[in-house]
Amino acid sequence: MARKFFVGGNWKCNGTSEEVKKIVSVLNGGQVPSPDVVEVVVSPPFVFLPEVKNSLRPEFHVAAQNCWVKKGGAYTGEVSAEMLHNLGIPWVILGHSERRAILGETNEFVGEKVVYALSQGLKVIACVGETLEQRESGSTMEVVAAQTKAIAEKIKDWSNVVIAYEPVWAIGTGKVASPAQAQEVHNELRKWLAANVSPEVAASTRIIYGGSVNGANCKELAGQPDIDGFLVGGASLKPEFIDIIKSAE
Ligand code: PGA
Repeated sequence: MARKFFVGGNWKCNGTSEEVKKIVSVLNGGQVPSPDVVEVVVSPPFVFLPEVKNSLRPEFHVAAQNCWVKKGGAYTGEVSAEMLHNLGIPWVILGHSERRAILGETNEFVGEKVVYALSQGLKVIACVGETLEQRESGSTMEVVAAQTKAIAEKIKDWSNVVIAYEPVWAIGTGKVASPAQAQEVHNELRKWLAANVSPEVAASTRIIYGGSVNGANCKELAGQPDIDGFLVGGASLKPEFIDIIKSAE
């Protein structure tokens, strides 16, 4: 099954309302391949989500960067999946390594978030990836498989899930994984899905790469057979994000 190229822009905790307007105007003015070729989803901080959703060109969509693990209620400071759905926010990023590392989100917690967000009608960009120590000790696949398993054992339908493989050592460091390194993990992950979920899910689920993707390195990464797109941090705040979207062609 053909997997449509997917480019996500993770703005993280960045931006003022003036900066957000500028980024949106760059995105709206960019010449990009048709939505039949590439799916583009940008993820501003919560407070800017409605504004970005309402001012962005209609073929680009928005994602929240997180949501609460279950139904909303007495959880001060949290934003629930049903609120996002109510506002027409179609996507949410879950399990980003910054939240796993800084906020202590475990594999199980991320798995619970994914299942709840899906149950509320959201589509999920689920992030996995190893640290440098884990890579150097040879446990990359073990770590990535355990993170994926915590999601896989809780969900049945993968049609609204994109997996983002983001090696922690490559995020925000300028140290991008080589195309061969990224392809190797994407291929292993797909094999893991085939063996542990189903060959159909393995063939149809998009596995996108994140970690220091930029306008200069995207083309070669995009050429790898198991890389179905990108989750872009730093470069998604810059005009070169348009070049990254173009790497879909
Ligand atoms: P980066 O971030 O592109 O700035 O490395 C990627 C991410 O964290 O999603």
